[in-house]
Amino acid sequence: MAAGRTAAEPADATATLIVPDQVWDGLDGPPHAGWAVAVTGSRIDAVGPADRLPVPPGAARLELPGTTLIPGLIEGHSHMLLHPYDETSWEDQVLREPEALRVARAVNHVRATLAAGFTTARDLGTEGAGYADVGLKMAIDQGIIPGPRLIVVTKAIVAHGSYGPKRFATDHADRIPQGAEEVAGLDQMTRVVRDQIKHGADWIKLYADYRWGLSGEAMPSFTLDELRVAVEVATSSGRFVAVHATTAEGMRRAVLAGARTIEHGDDGTPEVFALMKERGTYLVPTVAVRPALLEQAGTYRRGDPLPQRLRDKQATIAMAVEAGVAIANGSDVGPFAHGDNARELEILVDYGMTPRQALVAATSTAAAMLAMSDRIGSIAPGREADLVAVAGDPTRDISALRNIAFVMKAGVVYPLYEAGLGTSA
Ligand SMILES: [Zn+2]
Repeated sequence: MAAGRTAAEPADATATLIVPDQVWDGLDGPPHAGWAVAVTGSRIDAVGPADRLPVPPGAARLELPGTTLIPGLIEGHSHMLLHPYDETSWEDQVLREPEALRVARAVNHVRATLAAGFTTARDLGTEGAGYADVGLKMAIDQGIIPGPRLIVVTKAIVAHGSYGPKRFATDHADRIPQGAEEVAGLDQMTRVVRDQIKHGADWIKLYADYRWGLSGEAMPSFTLDELRVAVEVATSSGRFVAVHATTAEGMRRAVLAGARTIEHGDDGTPEVFALMKERGTYLVPTVAVRPALLEQAGTYRRGDPLPQRLRDKQATIAMAVEAGVAIANGSDVGPFAHGDNARELEILVDYGMTPRQALVAATSTAAAMLAMSDRIGSIAPGREADLVAVAGDPTRDISALRNIAFVMKAGVVYPLYEAGLGTSA
């Protein structure tokens, strides 16, 4: 790391005054021109008008002209152990790539994520790479490699027979490694949730449905009772449950079972979104991944008229917003390139959110979803010094997120390799 200090060592006790053009605090108001942020060690000390902010003696002054300072962004749905499917198909990544190869790639993925301004990521399943996310998180926390603060789930939990890789000859079908952990029944669910906790899971990830219908269509998988026992066991330990659900019935069961978040929610109905609003369930809509895969296939480019499935997704997002469901940012990145996370916010804006609403989804709402509002997701005294300077004003033009000028995580400035901007830490 630059300046002879690694992320594992405590940040300098000396203070830094960061002076951008304006500060956007992650809450729902507009940015404040002429504001600055004082940081001591790993924490934010003060935020306010630059000319009136109490500056600790000996504070270094860091001028960031032309930028808007925002809270470190939060990626609510990543797969750090996957790489784009136009490089290697999902099935070949699961079946043919050794875990060490996948981890070596993931080292690059977490660095690219941080360089893109995402200082926290909830990683929702290693897809055949076991508990590698736990070790990756340790490497970041120990300052061995740069990356976002990770919240990990280890293996996703899927109903026996529902997931993949699938479609193998009868003799082999029971011996094909799966991209997730298969479970059948209440006893096994209890054991597997506890086992994942033992291995380092921060959250539990379940699939309430998958493409295992008669014609390969998405259909519910776990029973309501199976989902309930998973949530009960996870909740007993103070952990939340994220549930993949695209069907209305899968979503309904997940919400009734007590899921904290619904991932995707493609076929949500007004009734299901009303239930989510009532129960305080968050929606992580993952609008970025499908258009990204269509772009990989060369059949669609952003800005083209939307194909039917994308129009349906846009309508679903509008329905969730109308119902008042809390929407947290999460892109499902991995099938498309890590570091391209801003794509989710751009598409949320394409689909009708204001840039500021999309940014709230990736800051204060995502922090609330993680129950980490007292630490991250906003710029306020006492919060972790997770700060990102964006060239321009992302509250007016969301694509400004493509121009990250500065990234600080817990008071440590990270070098931005791609941008060649170095570090002033
Ligand atoms: Zn995913």
